[in-house]
Amino acid sequence: MPDAGRVGYSLDPAAVPPHATARAWGRFCAKTVVTAEHVIWTGGLSSGYGTFHDDGFRDWDLELADHKATVTATRWLWTAHHGPIPRGMRILHGCDLPICVRLADLSVGSQAQNIADAARRDRLARFAGRVRLDRADTRGLAAQSRAIRFAVLEALDSGVSDPVLLEAVVTGVVAAGSPDAVSAKAPLFGVEDIPDAAVAKAPAAEPWQPELFGIDL
Ligand SMILES: [Zn+2]
Repeated sequence: MPDAGRVGYSLDPAAVPPHATARAWGRFCAKTVVTAEHVIWTGGLSSGYGTFHDDGFRDWDLELADHKATVTATRWLWTAHHGPIPRGMRILHGCDLPICVRLADLSVGSQAQNIADAARRDRLARFAGRVRLDRADTRGLAAQSRAIRFAVLEALDSGVSDPVLLEAVVTGVVAAGSPDAVSAKAPLFGVEDIPDAAVAKAPAAEPWQPELFGIDL
């Protein structure tokens, strides 16, 4: 449903999940923008992930010293719908955007599964020398999320409300950080960066034999 405060669509504040208060849910929804394929978080970010503060929220994760009273938006959203997350478990993202809080794309899993998941989708940084081999955003996830949040809020300010158009905005921002976009613009490494072994394996050039071509010197 359209959010009263701005153009665009957010999660429905009237559909309060069973494990959340109406007030907290309303605050949460106001920070979301629904696109055709994602639900973009427009509130606070930490390392690219949405953060949400709720004094009434209880989660084992909050006992970790560095988290204080703020949890990731995805942990809050999952708990609001399904109840407490088992101790030690993580929320796994089914989509590649950390800033996305689409419930349908979230699942509970171990940290080992979390890492295996990222590796399977080639999102863990892998290098050969200085050459990047993985498919992660070249700007880093924190910068990617900030870029998406900025672009989506700009689009809303410009009066864009269609989830399909908003999706196109997100897709454009993501494409700008794809490894392909970078390599298409400028090479990431010069000839001097190619390991000697690779050069040594290249076949030696044939010597110039003018007589083969009927040229009489
Ligand atoms: Zn998503």
